[in-house]
Amino acid sequence: MSKRPLVLLDVDGVLNPARRRGLRSRRHECVLDGRVYQVYLDRRHGRALAALARESGAELAWATTWEEHANLWIGPRVGLPPLPVIKVTDDPGSRAGEHFKTRHVAEYVAGRPFVWFDDSLGVPDWQYLLDHPGVGEFLLVDVDPMTGLTGAHLARAREWLAGRGAGDLDDAGAAAP
Ligand SMILES: [Mg+2]
Repeated sequence: MSKRPLVLLDVDGVLNPARRRGLRSRRHECVLDGRVYQVYLDRRHGRALAALARESGAELAWATTWEEHANLWIGPRVGLPPLPVIKVTDDPGSRAGEHFKTRHVAEYVAGRPFVWFDDSLGVPDWQYLLDHPGVGEFLLVDVDPMTGLTGAHLARAREWLAGRGAGDLDDAGAAAP
């Protein structure tokens, strides 16, 4: 089984920030199930993530409710190739306060180290992953949805991938016990 690290990507609040968009962000319209959505995307994100994966030997994957739509509407607009998709919308309930995506991520990673960029994670997710027998080393990078992914988040991921520790939660507001 591959132990190649994964870098998991959310879309809304990470690649598509709610506010404070950079000057190079571009507005795009996406049509999902007949509804039109606006997203603001910055191609520099795609370049930086591709470089992170290349330099660290990691594999990028989508962990977003956009699921396959991310490969159609988001990836090409930030310059990313089609990526593996973690199905996260089945059984969207929470058992112990963890985000509904978290259990799907726990199953998907199957022991591979991973960094997860998301704006909805906290201590319950960290605890769920730590307690899950199929989960190995991981880093949760809590992204502010107002600003989206920043250079500091990417640097933190790069640093962790270069010298991994177990079960880190990179969020000063929700520090690990
Ligand atoms: Mg999000």
